[in-house]
Amino acid sequence: MMTTDKQIQDLLDFIDVSPSPWHAVETVVSRLEEQGFVALSEKDAWDLQPGGRYYVVRDGSSIIAFVVGEMLISESGFRIFGAHTDSPGLRVKPRALSVTDQMVRVGVEVYGGPILATFTDRDLSLAGRVSYQTDTGHIADQLVKFDQPLLRLPNLAIHMNRKVNEEGLKLNKQTGLSLILSTIEGQLGGRDFQKLLAAATSLNEQQIYSWDLNVYDCQKGALWGERQQFIADSQLDNLASCHVGLQALLKEQSLNSGQTLVCAMFDHEEIGSETPKGADGSFLPDILERIALSRKQRREDYQRALANSFMISADMAHAYQPNFPSAYEPEHKVFVNQGPVIKINANQRYTSESVSSAVFKQCCEQIQVKWQEYSHRTDIPCGSTIGPMTAAKLGVRSVDVGNPMWAMHSIRESAGAQDHLDFIEVIGNFFTKPSLLS
Ligand code: ZN
Repeated sequence: MMTTDKQIQDLLDFIDVSPSPWHAVETVVSRLEEQGFVALSEKDAWDLQPGGRYYVVRDGSSIIAFVVGEMLISESGFRIFGAHTDSPGLRVKPRALSVTDQMVRVGVEVYGGPILATFTDRDLSLAGRVSYQTDTGHIADQLVKFDQPLLRLPNLAIHMNRKVNEEGLKLNKQTGLSLILSTIEGQLGGRDFQKLLAAATSLNEQQIYSWDLNVYDCQKGALWGERQQFIADSQLDNLASCHVGLQALLKEQSLNSGQTLVCAMFDHEEIGSETPKGADGSFLPDILERIALSRKQRREDYQRALANSFMISADMAHAYQPNFPSAYEPEHKVFVNQGPVIKINANQRYTSESVSSAVFKQCCEQIQVKWQEYSHRTDIPCGSTIGPMTAAKLGVRSVDVGNPMWAMHSIRESAGAQDHLDFIEVIGNFFTKPSLLS
């Protein structure tokens, strides 16, 4: 175990500078541009060159990066890696501030399915984007991030909640989640939220129309464990997978493999993906078709390309936690630092089937990486991923995989360092292997 491995520190840094999906995409963009990737706009006509490296952002928080291979796309197909940029949590309401009982609080809505109790007693702050009117009267947007802890959700003392350890902390989503910002003696009150945003940006308060703001945890990522073999951080689901895809794509061997490689990272997975920039929207089909069209392929060639394509849908998996044995399917426990996990569900909540699972197992075994197989308890509803809807839209063979982690959807999740390193190598092999299927 290389506990000081640069890739692991890089993952922690990647998450630290990505406290919202908009920031995550900005982080990905800066890394792509360092490697010569060129921004494309969906509004422009494209003239893609073989060997060219490109990326497209849709609405700031979904991104598709791709390398145009020298090989004919109709024959080689697309090698697609998919993940998501969003994490469940709290989002600021439009009328953000409320003043009651001498306290100024920020009203929030629940985004997706976080473990709400984990948001108590944390050093919370805000990050996202602000939309404003420019000097010339246009609407533009700008990222905003408060670096210092700004907000808090203090727990109720045990003296007022005597059964908290037996019954767990219950938070009413309407009345129990407002975050404390200030007391009334402070500067803020009424509609002064715009002032707060203006102070954190280069804007003045009159310019600011609206915002998309995520509540994030200021605590930085850390290694832990006897040999520092574990990672603790927010948003491991699914920024860890985004980092895997990006690191694998940016390897020299991947960039020069001759394959057409696609790395798609979508917002809105945690709320069902059915949005213009979500995995169930038109983003990926639009971009793949435009790659084919720009390479002077006909519609039939594009459809042949899809038939020759393969997708790895990457999202985190549930590692065994020995304090809760009854939560797991006894024959399908997966363990942290024992290798990437193939997720299988007979009802196709995951896309994995025997052929696509075999392809992934081979990608692992060729480079001596262990793999594991996960099946959820049959009597508990199973989660899902971007895999099924993306694969269904495209008709592309797909497998759902991901690294084992603890406490999925906690504000402080954990996973294994070795798994992360191994997964990057496996995806690198997937991107560069001469052939996947006969
Ligand atoms: Zn996820």
